[in-house]
Amino acid sequence: MQDTTSTARCETAGPDVRLHEAAAAAGFAVVPGSSTASADGVWAMVHTPAGRRLLVVPAAAQTALLAEFEGERGEHGGAPFLSGPLTAANAAALRRHLPWLKPRPLPQGTSAGFGDRLGLATPGHVRALRAAGGSIAPVFAQQSIREMTRTGRSPQAVIDDATWGSFEAGWTDGQGADADHLKTAADITACAAAGFTMFTIDPGGHVDPRADAGGPADIRAAWDRLPWDRLEDSAASMRARLAGRAFDIEGQRVSFDEGALVRAAVKYGRAVAHVTAMYRHLCDVMGGRPFDLEVSVDETDTPTAPVEHVFVASELRRLGLRWASLAPRFVGRFEKGVDYIGDLAAFEADVRVHAAIARVLGPYKISLHSGSDKFSIYDIAAQHTRGLIHLKTAGTSYLEALRALARSAPRLFRAIYVFALERYDQDRASYHVSATVAGAPEPARVSDAELPELLEDFHAREILHVTFGSVLTASHADGTRVFADDLRSMLQAHPEVYQECLERHFVRHLRPFAGR
Ligand SMILES: [Zn+2]
Repeated sequence: MQDTTSTARCETAGPDVRLHEAAAAAGFAVVPGSSTASADGVWAMVHTPAGRRLLVVPAAAQTALLAEFEGERGEHGGAPFLSGPLTAANAAALRRHLPWLKPRPLPQGTSAGFGDRLGLATPGHVRALRAAGGSIAPVFAQQSIREMTRTGRSPQAVIDDATWGSFEAGWTDGQGADADHLKTAADITACAAAGFTMFTIDPGGHVDPRADAGGPADIRAAWDRLPWDRLEDSAASMRARLAGRAFDIEGQRVSFDEGALVRAAVKYGRAVAHVTAMYRHLCDVMGGRPFDLEVSVDETDTPTAPVEHVFVASELRRLGLRWASLAPRFVGRFEKGVDYIGDLAAFEADVRVHAAIARVLGPYKISLHSGSDKFSIYDIAAQHTRGLIHLKTAGTSYLEALRALARSAPRLFRAIYVFALERYDQDRASYHVSATVAGAPEPARVSDAELPELLEDFHAREILHVTFGSVLTASHADGTRVFADDLRSMLQAHPEVYQECLERHFVRHLRPFAGR
């Protein structure tokens, strides 16, 4: 009799009640905020003695869907359910049933990319997005090939970690996925296969810095040697098309005299040819699936002059490209994980004209790379881009993980800091950073209670920021990780601490852009 009552209650209960009853019957705790109902069932992340798992309770007519998932089946009140591990196969099946978890191209308004090197930050990013308000479109899966190599993660793992994180946080408002700083066709192929929808092509290696410093004869010779065939152009026709031409950029004249044209072409012509080839490869591998293209020249030595931005955009357009965003190299210094270094008035003048060019020749978004922790320029950038902006952050979520660690596991944090100081001079080579080991606090002079304050120190921040790859891949002779496994376990044991750190830090990034 009791059984009948319980069954009857299950059948008439709402889907959320059925889910909680199934979880309770199996001895699992539903992660608060993670349960989601769809036409074919209810879904949640649960804590189990074996760690986090997916719980699926299909609707009565949909029990066949359980065959798509790996895991253990159970039964409650006559209804089957399944708890499964967080595998790639289960992530793919989940995206089929909850389509908002599947990455898609971004809407045209303000967007933000949250790099997540550990694969555990998405719930904290969601909390920050909700707290900041506004309608900022998120990119949770965002990683450059350099970061994937240094962290030993695959493109698929980056996508899947964002799937699980946004599922756990109950995020149903859509998301993009950015394969960042792609340099080769092979990178594009691998990231397209994993489900990325935003492709940031970095032709930085094809930008010729001699254009800014070379003498007239060198520049003339470099112009003659431009890859005219790949530009589908000739020196004569480029000159006829652009020399002497002035573009009206919202009332400001940006004009190509002969010298400016030759310098812009020498500096960016090979980059335009490279981006074009990458774009055509991307179109081939996407086979008609929609995507966002971003063109980034931020990691180059010299700033992108307005006339050079116009050159790149008008040439890419002539070659048939369509792109969603472009990252110029702005004036000043965008070092990793610290505030903007430079003259704010000069940055304002620079972003104003680049944003105007993007409106006139697009519209497309201005992408602000190395965008984390640049608190002094957010209001300026938000004001002048008028909602056409993509803010890209990468390593600052890793630094927040270290902050959480400094609070919860000071001994492990101290060991990472000591190791980072040893590695820094080698690891800094591929970054624009100016911190020095001599400038950073000596570990022996910092008490356990003071360790979190290292995350406020300019030198310590940059040192911890650029050594992430060495820290995460350092291994013992038997192959076990020196730091990475314990770091991940600590974050998983104290999710509240990590999420709180991320929310507090990212709200400061997002609020200036949220109201536009
Ligand atoms: Zn960048």
